[in-house]
Amino acid sequence: LCLQALTVISNPGLRSWAVATGEALLLSSSLPMPSSFLLSMELLPNGEKLTDVINKTNENVKYLPGIKLGRNVVADPDLENAVKEANMLVFVTPHQFMGGICKKLKGKVTGEVEAISLVKGMEVKKEGPCMISSLISKELGINSCVLMGANIANEIAVEKFSEATVGYRESREIADTWVQLFSTPYFMVTPVRNFHSSPSVCHSRLLNAGNNGKACVKVHDVEGVELCGTLKNVVAIAAGFVDGLEMGNNTKAAIMRIGLREMRALSKLLFPSVKDSTFFESCGVADVITTCCKDCELSFCSLLSIVKVIVALLTITVGGRNRRVAETFAQSGGKRSFDELEAEMLQGQKLQGVSTAREVYEVLNHCGWLEMFPLFSTVHQICTGRLKPEAIVHYRDHKA
Ligand code: 13P
Repeated sequence: LCLQALTVISNPGLRSWAVATGEALLLSSSLPMPSSFLLSMELLPNGEKLTDVINKTNENVKYLPGIKLGRNVVADPDLENAVKEANMLVFVTPHQFMGGICKKLKGKVTGEVEAISLVKGMEVKKEGPCMISSLISKELGINSCVLMGANIANEIAVEKFSEATVGYRESREIADTWVQLFSTPYFMVTPVRNFHSSPSVCHSRLLNAGNNGKACVKVHDVEGVELCGTLKNVVAIAAGFVDGLEMGNNTKAAIMRIGLREMRALSKLLFPSVKDSTFFESCGVADVITTCCKDCELSFCSLLSIVKVIVALLTITVGGRNRRVAETFAQSGGKRSFDELEAEMLQGQKLQGVSTAREVYEVLNHCGWLEMFPLFSTVHQICTGRLKPEAIVHYRDHKA
């Protein structure tokens, strides 16, 4: 493993690149190689360019204040320059922008380039949903893996242990390369496991040894991993409604269970190759849990915890954004719009769950599946003001 990693690192032509907000810069600052990042031409209130400040201070003062980035990270506002000579591309942008970015990148990268998408979202076209890794592959003619998991950025930033799952299409070798590049002692990345039946029958030791035995089928489940990351944002919005209405943990657990069940059902309807076992990886149940949990429960055990809570409340990037904004939406009785709350609470970052709920609704409506997915369809109807936040637990009465 070491040798392979060293070979990669010592390749002088190797650069990685991502379209990034805080999370991307953070994850990739752990990459053991120089990394260029595209960041929009954002200006700070004092008129300075955010990219200049990041390059001067090694700190993303807007989206991850107080966290020092690796010295290998260079923020670049020029897309063409950022991808020049790159052979590993890391995409981490709000999914709403991916169509436009791919268009701009057409013809700028060659077929030998490998990509990985950390984008938790999808595009909906007339023909149906298009996952972001497929969009990258189709538009740019390159292979794209995905990395998804229970990864709240500010927790990774302070090096709290997290896991992530890599989904890949054909080559296990490239999945292993991404695993090596992203792994740190506190960030444990694994390729999605290919359990066909129960783990006791299809043991990972056999898989790792390249087993071709009858019990195991090689399915790399890139779609399953990506749909987990995408659909869990809709569940996180539902969890935020529950928090805003102070419904408690039983209700939250019910929403998470129903959400996970709908995630699995829709994934399998869209891509029959999706595996149940993927939902037990970090990208599945673990990501549902972390994005639905309240980031800081008030605990008055010690002065230190009170200070921590105050700091947390003052920091805009704390915890899952979808859940937090949905909580405030429900507290307002649905009177404040998500657009307004996003602008106020996220200061330039983009929510994924509300647009994903709309895209999922379009797919369900188009396919005549609305009745099979009451939680997903109710979330969209609450977000658009057609139902009150309270409907999140009455969803059986509000089948569209
Ligand atoms: P939010 O976009 O809700 O912050 O979720 C982040 C995430 O995907 C954690 O895994």
